[in-house]
Amino acid sequence: MVREFLPPGWAVQGEKGIAFVVTGPSGAGKSSVIAELLRQDPRLVFSVSATTRPRRPGEEHGRDYYFVSDQEFSRLLERGELLEWTEYQGYRYGTPREEVVGRLAAGRDVVLNVEVRGALAIAQAGLPYPVVLIFLVPPSWDELRRRIQARATESREALEERLRIARQEVSHIPRFHYLVVNDRLEQAVEELVAIVRAERRRLTTWSG
Ligand code: 5GP
Repeated sequence: MVREFLPPGWAVQGEKGIAFVVTGPSGAGKSSVIAELLRQDPRLVFSVSATTRPRRPGEEHGRDYYFVSDQEFSRLLERGELLEWTEYQGYRYGTPREEVVGRLAAGRDVVLNVEVRGALAIAQAGLPYPVVLIFLVPPSWDELRRRIQARATESREALEERLRIARQEVSHIPRFHYLVVNDRLEQAVEELVAIVRAERRRLTTWSG
């Protein structure tokens, strides 16, 4: 509908699907923030990753992750069904191509929860859709440590390892488009909603 105001070839990004990639150190609150974002914006759909990590209490197969065996994960890889994948703390995590490409092609906006290398890999995958890179941080290092410690599932070694990975991850912040601080959940979600809205109105030229 805005086309009549635009020269040929121009459009706003929201006319097609957009991929919103949310990254941040473990403990930044990505899962909670994303769950609330999805609740507030029904145009968004979550990209469910495959993982070899065991299911945590409260997690659901097909909603939070596809929990697969090592063998099944290898099969996904061999068949080229993963857009990107990584190893994280001894487990493998990967983004099924269909979760992202299939939905974008259908005009849906897709939200991904991946670690930093995965986010950068998706940005470089050459998808014919806009990829918006969002980095989520807790308000401070002390708070990050507290949040990771509060997770009963984390052993002492796992905590130290997650903090070490977090230090490495934040060094990549300058490669992202947006930085959101998750101090209060509602405010972080509000900012994400604003980013999603703004990106839908961004002017673009389609090559196709
Ligand atoms: P968790 O085990 O806490 O659910 O996730 C560990 C890390 O793996 C998180 O930083 C999460 O964002 C990341 N992750 C989850 N799924 C994927 C994926 O498909 N690809 C990549 N690269 N990272 C993922």
